[in-house]
Amino acid sequence: MIQQPTPRLQIDLDKLFHNAQSLVNRLHKRGISVTAITKATLGLPEVANTWLRAGVSGLGDSRIENIAKMRAAQVSATMTLIRAPMLSQIDEVVALTNLSLNSELAVIRLLSAAAKKVDCIHEVIFMVELGDLREGMMPEFLESSVREVLGLPNLLFKGIGTNLACRSGVSPDAQNMSQLSRLADATDATFGRIVKVVSGGNSANLDWALSPASIGRINNLRLGEALLLGCEPLHRKPINGLHATAITLVAEVIELKDKPCKPWGTIAQAAFGEAKPTRENEQGQIKQAILAIGMQDVDPDGLTPPQGIQILASSSDHLVVDVSAYKGSIKVGSEVLFQLDYSALLRAMTSPFILKMVISSEKGVICENC
Ligand SMILES: *Cc1c(COP(=O)(O)O)cnc(C)c1O
Repeated sequence: MIQQPTPRLQIDLDKLFHNAQSLVNRLHKRGISVTAITKATLGLPEVANTWLRAGVSGLGDSRIENIAKMRAAQVSATMTLIRAPMLSQIDEVVALTNLSLNSELAVIRLLSAAAKKVDCIHEVIFMVELGDLREGMMPEFLESSVREVLGLPNLLFKGIGTNLACRSGVSPDAQNMSQLSRLADATDATFGRIVKVVSGGNSANLDWALSPASIGRINNLRLGEALLLGCEPLHRKPINGLHATAITLVAEVIELKDKPCKPWGTIAQAAFGEAKPTRENEQGQIKQAILAIGMQDVDPDGLTPPQGIQILASSSDHLVVDVSAYKGSIKVGSEVLFQLDYSALLRAMTSPFILKMVISSEKGVICENC
């Protein structure tokens, strides 16, 4: 048997396609388009193209480097920078993206100047703060900000947006979403019909967007986690009909021993602070395995092991698990598959030690080291 390299992330394009198509269709019925957010996959072109085939209306990323990577790979889509542009990156933002989400007039003025210099039009969405206290201007500043952007050359005001749930866990609901609609109406009433896009939020908006509630003016969502993991982030519930295993992490057993449950000797701090206490009255031996993956590669708290395997501890490059109850066969060299949450996925995608393998249920391995 030829062993595949480990550790690796297996990214199944067929499952990702299914997830995206299903959400695009369900939201289309509600008049909502999907901007697929590529940051968690670092702009992996295979994933971006899969989402475009599935019908998303554009791509967004928080980092200009990821957008540059997709442009270089000829991914053809409207690209949105979803984090406020840095002043130090204005020229790249204008060159590589069509649209950016903004909340600072100082940035807007420089975007206008940069777009004028290269004779292009850059589109702008204003982010409004609706309670989560991350990005966005306070609503009372929207009108004067729109007035200013309308007077600046080479900028096109596209609409407004908000982001909830990411910092404080504030849930998108009828109240804050109808406030966003009212802001769109008020802006149109003042300036004529200029609000084309009302971007209601991220994956945390799905509960609200797919409920029977009126969606008002909201006509766009920016989705990452839901497309990748098939789950909504507010209660981390699986979304009906979506695959939760489109991306899996595979790690390899490098040690397998019967060992006592309890450490012995004088106990001080471990590599990452206090060691997890062994449970009271845990005695005797367990079958302990070490996997060649660690905190440098992944957030161990975000991993779900197979049935019968329990994560005991982790350090920089070791993951210690109890396999006593595991029914499958396991030995040194065995592969163990994990499901990941968003935090674990983000870190694993970013680790240079983890291979990113793109697969398709139909075509097998598409790209062994993307
Ligand atoms: C990351 C991000 C998203 C996507 O969030 P998910 O929870 O992955 O859907 C949307 N909007 C902004 C501004 C973001 O930073």
